[in-house]
Amino acid sequence: MRHDRRSLFRLVAVLAVSTAVPVAAAPRSPAADRRLPALKREAAADVDRMQVFTQQMVDTLFSFGELGFQEVETSRHLVGVLRENGFQVKEGVYGIPTAWVATWGSGRPVISLGSDIDGIPKASQKPGIAWHTPLIEGAPGHGEGHNSGQAVNITAAIAVKKIMERERLPGTLVLWPGVAEELLGTKAYFVREGLFKDTDVVLFSHVDSEMKVTWGQGDGSGLVSVEYTFHGEPAHAGVAPWRGRSALDAVELMDAGWNFRREHLRTEQRSHYVITRGGDQPNVVPSLASVWYYFRELDYPHIHSLLEAGNAIAKAAAAMTETTVEWRILGAAWPQHFNRPVAEAMSENMKAVGMPSWSEADQTLAKGLQRELKAAEKGLETAVTRLEPPPAEPKGGGSDDIGDVSWTVPTITLLYPSNIPGLPGHHWANAVAMATPLAHKGATAGAKVQAMTMLDLLLRPELVAQAWSYFRDVQTRETKYTPLIGPQDVPATWLNRETMERYRPDMRKYYFDATRYKTYLEQLGVSYPTVR
Ligand SMILES: [Zn+2]
Repeated sequence: MRHDRRSLFRLVAVLAVSTAVPVAAAPRSPAADRRLPALKREAAADVDRMQVFTQQMVDTLFSFGELGFQEVETSRHLVGVLRENGFQVKEGVYGIPTAWVATWGSGRPVISLGSDIDGIPKASQKPGIAWHTPLIEGAPGHGEGHNSGQAVNITAAIAVKKIMERERLPGTLVLWPGVAEELLGTKAYFVREGLFKDTDVVLFSHVDSEMKVTWGQGDGSGLVSVEYTFHGEPAHAGVAPWRGRSALDAVELMDAGWNFRREHLRTEQRSHYVITRGGDQPNVVPSLASVWYYFRELDYPHIHSLLEAGNAIAKAAAAMTETTVEWRILGAAWPQHFNRPVAEAMSENMKAVGMPSWSEADQTLAKGLQRELKAAEKGLETAVTRLEPPPAEPKGGGSDDIGDVSWTVPTITLLYPSNIPGLPGHHWANAVAMATPLAHKGATAGAKVQAMTMLDLLLRPELVAQAWSYFRDVQTRETKYTPLIGPQDVPATWLNRETMERYRPDMRKYYFDATRYKTYLEQLGVSYPTVR
């Protein structure tokens, strides 16, 4: 229903533009199209001129290294940069303290740019050094590279905004952060709360070792993240254990039950858990214990049936131990499905931009790290990855809650080459490159692609129309979005609070000071590259 209204609105909008500006009426070769190649070159050149600006943002966010829901310094910094550059920013949106929405411009199209901002536990790592050497032992860090995507989006948005102002192009730019992506923690709430209600297209960006864009459903999974908490009865474990009922026993029985059940699940499923609370000391029967599961599958019905199996096993474990159990959804992600026409347009821009020119030093770092990890010593990617059709049978794998967004509005993810191939992921090694020239060049290349694709959307209204017809007539013809979060669920904003409180005072000493140093490597006194 909503989309019908939307398409009518769009048609009216296009007609209005056509009558007001007769030269733009013919869709084949409107004046707008003739401007496009030159404006793309101009945007790319401007992104090149902003290299220091981009690099400083990448380095600054790297030095904050904040975990999901606790991206306090990160969001403060980005909001400051956006306001300085003329964006209006609303902070603390949807009950999430570190979430914000920045907007500039007016009218259609509404182009929405997102990228994740959170780090990985225990991934603290000095950049530019090809072995494990944390800045602070045990502290979090950017072991995924989420310190780079906002720099891509903001640089691109500033370049495009300047062109829109001069050329008087109608359109609205919206920027937002993927808060707590590692917890699949917020984007389903952004959808539920209406962030994408009036959006035409979402251009998401994510770090990678390749320059790549995809359409359709790739090899990732969707998931639901749920914590089971068991309540038992404490007792002296030596004197009167028969009077106790162990919540930890229930957790262990649930895990054993799940691991037996695993044999009889589809091979596409992936599920994993951590015990978040397991009692206090051995001589007190644990009255409280929790286990946190991620249930991953390829589509909503299968994710939902894993959740039901988990719930049934949790109840059975409670029955076996005479404890009680409750559970809470901590996050969710639909499988990602990306928009074909927009991916095709972006792929052309990737070919035009090409890969960064890697230096000898960049390759030395990459090979040194690959050697350290006993991975194939092939260095960095040197060619843009070709756009391929999606796999006939997706195998499953990682998740990003951009999936929920991708089932709400036409969405694609720009993967830009800021990292080294062949790394384990969610690991200190994935942080090594992320505040080095390697990451900086990848972010600049990504910002060019992002800016050029934004110009496509601004100057080729037919691309927006094609994006919506793919979304309506192909992607969502049979599959309708049903959220995995319920209307009563709330973002789990308390997660990681204690961890960040523990490490932040030490981490603060290492924040990047752009007023005194050109780069974070310089501030840390790391010579680039440092390899064995
Ligand atoms: Zn990520």
